[in-house]
Amino acid sequence: MLAPFTAGWQSNDVHPLGSYVYDINGNKYLDSLAGLWCTALGGSEPRLVKAATDQLNKLPFYHSFWNRTTKPTLDLADDLLSMFTASKMGKAFFTNSGSEANDSHMLCSLRRVATIDTIYVALTVIRHSHLQRITKNCFTLCYVKLVWYYNNALGRPNKKKFIARSKAYHGSTLISASLTGLPALHQKFDLPAPFVLHTDCPHYWRFHLPGETEEEFATRLAKNLEDLILKEGPETIAAFIAEPVMGAGGVIPPPKTYFDKVQAVVKKYDILFIVDEVITAFGRLGTMFGSDMYNIKPDLVTLAKALSSAYVPIGATLVSPEIAAVVDSQSNKLGSFAHGFTYSGHPVACAVAIEALKIYRERNIPDHVKQIAPRFQEGTKAFAGSPIVGEIRGVGLILGTEFANNKSRDDPFPAEWGVGAIFGQECQKRGMLVRVAGDSIMMSPPLTMTPGEVDENNSSLSGGNNAPERTLFLMRGM
Ligand code: PMP
Repeated sequence: MLAPFTAGWQSNDVHPLGSYVYDINGNKYLDSLAGLWCTALGGSEPRLVKAATDQLNKLPFYHSFWNRTTKPTLDLADDLLSMFTASKMGKAFFTNSGSEANDSHMLCSLRRVATIDTIYVALTVIRHSHLQRITKNCFTLCYVKLVWYYNNALGRPNKKKFIARSKAYHGSTLISASLTGLPALHQKFDLPAPFVLHTDCPHYWRFHLPGETEEEFATRLAKNLEDLILKEGPETIAAFIAEPVMGAGGVIPPPKTYFDKVQAVVKKYDILFIVDEVITAFGRLGTMFGSDMYNIKPDLVTLAKALSSAYVPIGATLVSPEIAAVVDSQSNKLGSFAHGFTYSGHPVACAVAIEALKIYRERNIPDHVKQIAPRFQEGTKAFAGSPIVGEIRGVGLILGTEFANNKSRDDPFPAEWGVGAIFGQECQKRGMLVRVAGDSIMMSPPLTMTPGEVDENNSSLSGGNNAPERTLFLMRGM
């Protein structure tokens, strides 16, 4: 097997239980990354297992091509559209992952086909009368292609470029890897694609000028964005994409006023705003969506990971009613858009996602996160003063720590020391799994974490002379 993002072969056969995973030797670890920022409801939620098995027994599969689809697919579209309230969304598109959701999307009807048995729906959609009803509200299309298609439809054939940000993560397919702003995903792959531009990473600690406040930093970044748009020509820029809090780039919350300022620029030049909520949706920051926390009013929204709590692969994009209407009007003239995946809107994935959304609402997961977040964020205070810790940053249940010599952003440790990797290994020895990237470590535990588990997380980090940071300090003689 060629394992993703893995150097050589590392075997770690893990078995999940709640907030814990067990390796092949029975060792128990607190999963402080929730799989890969995704098992938001923990690893053993019986309601999700039941939703999957019930759906498998009812209708294991039917596709969503050519105006056919299944009831769970339509129901999930309804649910998502009513849950996302930061701005009005018109239609939902389903994919199998966050990368695909950033690349391409199948559109699902907001309207229910019928309130009848799932098998019956799937089989009857081929009847002419049903087909007509679905055709009115359903079409298939592709998202980056959709944005191009949309601009072609509006008579703006040159408005095709995308602006993303350095250190962003949007996926690893050709287009989503191009949107990603991490060199490792570009080098040796001939990326990014020429129609993707990158603007500043909004990391205040690393990039602010001497004496610059967070607000001034945000103003400068918005000005740089505007300068880039003007240099390229506003008539060539189709969309801007951003994560509310950058995840894989190192957990980077935005500086104060950042989203107000960049949204104003994007709006001024009639550029679409895509918010990538793959990590931040469904309570991670203490609000249902990251857009709620930062007052983001997007035209398109990307979802994945916690959408099904990662029990089955699924991604989605929500699009504004305006975009859906323009594309709809064209597809009526031009026929269907020739793009889609066999498993788009898979009924089992949709059934699991519907149940996950129910749980987020019933258990009021965003409020739970809000309540335990201060306890979680304080866990790293034990070593915040250490001379090898440059910055600790986070919001809700997501946290990043960056190591730097003498706390200075300008004095990184030699890469060959593997400082982040050593810290990660030390955490693992103490029964806790975290994410390592360069000299940063990141945590994003299950949203269902109990106060006791938060305390356990914190005591693994702050074990006095036995703390991972202390070991790191001593090992390198720093
Ligand atoms: N967007 C963001 C913000 C992500 O964090 C990720 C995955 N870490 C993706 C997109 C891509 O998702 P996937 O790996 O499911 O393709």
